[in-house]
Amino acid sequence: MRPVLVLVESHEESVRDRTFELLTIARRLGDPVAVVRHPADAASVAALGRYGAKRVCVVESAVPDAGPVAVAVEGLAELAWQMAVSAVLTGAGREGREVAARTSVRLGAGIVTGAVDVHPGPDGPVTVQNVCDGAYRVESVVRGDTPVITVAPGAVAAAPAPVVPVVERVRVRPAEPARAVRVLARTPKRRRPAVSGAAVVVAGGRGVGSADGFALIEKVADALGAAVGGTHAAADLGWCAHDALIGQTGAIVHPRLYLACGISGSVHHRAGMRHASTIVAIDTDPSAPIFRIADVGVVGDLHEVLPALLAELDRGRRGRSPWEA
Ligand SMILES: Cc1cc2nc3c(=O)[nH]c(=O)nc-3n(C[C@H](O)[C@H](O)[C@H](O)COP(=O)(O)OP(=O)(O)OC[C@H]3O[C@@H](n4cnc5c(N)ncnc54)[C@H](O)[C@@H]3O)c2cc1C
Repeated sequence: MRPVLVLVESHEESVRDRTFELLTIARRLGDPVAVVRHPADAASVAALGRYGAKRVCVVESAVPDAGPVAVAVEGLAELAWQMAVSAVLTGAGREGREVAARTSVRLGAGIVTGAVDVHPGPDGPVTVQNVCDGAYRVESVVRGDTPVITVAPGAVAAAPAPVVPVVERVRVRPAEPARAVRVLARTPKRRRPAVSGAAVVVAGGRGVGSADGFALIEKVADALGAAVGGTHAAADLGWCAHDALIGQTGAIVHPRLYLACGISGSVHHRAGMRHASTIVAIDTDPSAPIFRIADVGVVGDLHEVLPALLAELDRGRRGRSPWEA
């Protein structure tokens, strides 16, 4: 059986459970080889053996200041070439994704991300992915050698299959970190709350009119300390980030205040925001469905209403009642 590389992830010196899930999958595909970044203690090696790692390769960097991702990429690539492995498996978390992407480039190999299952097939590992919120399951086989696969947490239940692993050391020389870049200044990223869990959400739809127009939504959100949300239309047009999408295919939110701007209020959008305690809607069309669920409705052009709202908020901040002339 050909070896299968598994990138080991640890937390506070313990091997993460998701690594045991990867080893369980690796056993279906070949002989599991756990790839550990130095240092690996006896307890970690024993734990990896309990889940079937026949070999534990401890990767050490010959370059002192190489980062953990660079060491992992170099270790996986080196071992994949040496052992002619049948697959490389990593977790689908942030680090696993980055290592997998860079390893696939290094190997010139195909990559499948977020697999919810992997099983052997006549032409190599068959990966299963959920798409369209799980409405479809897609099966893929990577063409060419050495598929790199990131596996979603909980894809399989980790099942023990104890062996005593052989421990080997692998010394790699990751590329030197780029030294030609000098950081001149750092601008902190504006920290806006994410839509999920935000107390106030200011959301824009197609009625905002343009990406530049969306800056007005962001300005109002910042004035209220709110999260920025959007409809499918706004996200598809690239006016707001996809993780700002609210509705049936996006986030479901329960804020105290939801300010809907230029949003017609389709059933799909309402599915994500109808539980807000107070809904304020601004729309030029008095028959827009959003007004059926709004607590406060403003029939008007958001490009006039929102600047007026900002001015009132500014007056309020400067200590004067917004209602004073
Ligand atoms: C399977 C499926 C899943 C979907 N999932 C989602 C989802 O999760 N979330 C989602 O949002 N959509 C979803 N959609 C899309 C949804 O059906 C609607 O197409 C979408 O919500 C419409 O977005 P909108 O309100 O921005 O645009 P529109 O429906 O075009 O509404 C724009 C509104 O802006 C108003 N307007 C125009 N100019 C101004 C102005 N200057 N000032 C004030 N108002 C103005 C208009 O009167 C109109 O009411 C899904 C669709 C399908 C088929």
